[in-house]
Amino acid sequence: MNTENNRKQIALISVHGDPAVDIGGEEAGGQNVYVRQVGEALAQLGWEVDMFTRLADADQSPLVQHQAHCRTIRLSAGPKTFIPRQEIFEHCDRFLEEFIKFSRQEGRNYALIHTNYWLSAWVGLELRRRLSLPMIHTYHSLGAVKYQSVQEPPETATRRLEIEKAALETAECIVATSPQEKDYLRSLVSSRGNIEIIPCGTDINHFGSITYEQAREKLGFSPEEKVIYYVGRFDPRKGIETLVRAIHQSQIRSQSPIRLIIAGAYRPGQSDGKEKERISQIVKELGLEEMTEFPGRISDENLPIYFAAADVCVVPSHYEPFGLVPIEAMASGTPVVGSAVGGLNFTVVSEETGLLVPPKDEEAFANAIDRVLSDPQWRNQLGKNARKRMEEEFSWEGVASQLNDLYSRFVTL
Ligand code: UDP
Repeated sequence: MNTENNRKQIALISVHGDPAVDIGGEEAGGQNVYVRQVGEALAQLGWEVDMFTRLADADQSPLVQHQAHCRTIRLSAGPKTFIPRQEIFEHCDRFLEEFIKFSRQEGRNYALIHTNYWLSAWVGLELRRRLSLPMIHTYHSLGAVKYQSVQEPPETATRRLEIEKAALETAECIVATSPQEKDYLRSLVSSRGNIEIIPCGTDINHFGSITYEQAREKLGFSPEEKVIYYVGRFDPRKGIETLVRAIHQSQIRSQSPIRLIIAGAYRPGQSDGKEKERISQIVKELGLEEMTEFPGRISDENLPIYFAAADVCVVPSHYEPFGLVPIEAMASGTPVVGSAVGGLNFTVVSEETGLLVPPKDEEAFANAIDRVLSDPQWRNQLGKNARKRMEEEFSWEGVASQLNDLYSRFVTL
């Protein structure tokens, strides 16, 4: 048991997913949210938490204090600018040296490390070997699954697959965020190694803090219009094109006014900006411009309002390791129409909290959206069931308490 004076120090390592940045940009998504929420919740449970990431902007502060016992430390490894994650591996050895230097300077004596994504797994495996630190690992995304739907795997693919396998076989325990991920690990990566299933969580007080009616009034949406909502990164893997084409096929368009909101950050000229342009072009070609809006990045404060105001949240990903957006929508009482892939098969219960359909299947998405929107009573029931499921299974407090128990098994008290 950790007491105020005797807090065990733990390091959460997230080389490319900075837990202290604004979420919603090209490279800032679920992993950043996960690390920050887990870190903060574990500090509440009595741990001394240091979260390590790479300094990716010369103007950023090297240290961010989130609360008394939880901080982000940004280590200098490679250029102090944004670099895509495929190019980060070559700076990982520097990251490792900086980590060791920092912990010596600060007199830190970590009882455990929890690594996130394969880049951090490499750092973790080295720390485990050199300093005999117990290691817990969360994949966030699995190369073995991802490369199945990618035409040209990047140059780093072989190395990534090797490190992901080594992590599974070597770490004290892997945290799989869904039973589906565990199955993938066993069938595609290795039959060796420990795996525990602990889902990602969501802030059930933040999401669900405003009603459907209040949210719509705030955003100025009329009661008659049907609001279809996507939020997330602009990345072809997210399947936004499928959503747009589904809306074009949808029957509901002839019955009610539609407002299609496609939210998420995009920067002109960058990969998210290019995907946004491509999507805008399709919207134009299909004549959906009048009903479609691109509000850009949604701030943390506004996220619950948009989710609550939507009649349905659509998650058309081709591949989704876990997916925070669907659980945020459901915690807000909004049903999800999503692809039956990865984490969605675990979080969304089809016909109970939303509907799952095959990925990339425009017609199936159109039918599912029509079904939910044409029966408001059923839509409300799905939303209620969704909220209940999130309260029972997916709160950060519940997730952190499971991680706390897991860590305690590997830390010498
Ligand atoms: N997000 C946000 N603002 C935006 C777009 C996304 O805060 O404009 C957040 C979203 O609420 C979620 C995260 O970014 O918490 C995305 O996580 P998810 O697991 O759904 O997808 P990923 O980006 O990890 O693929």
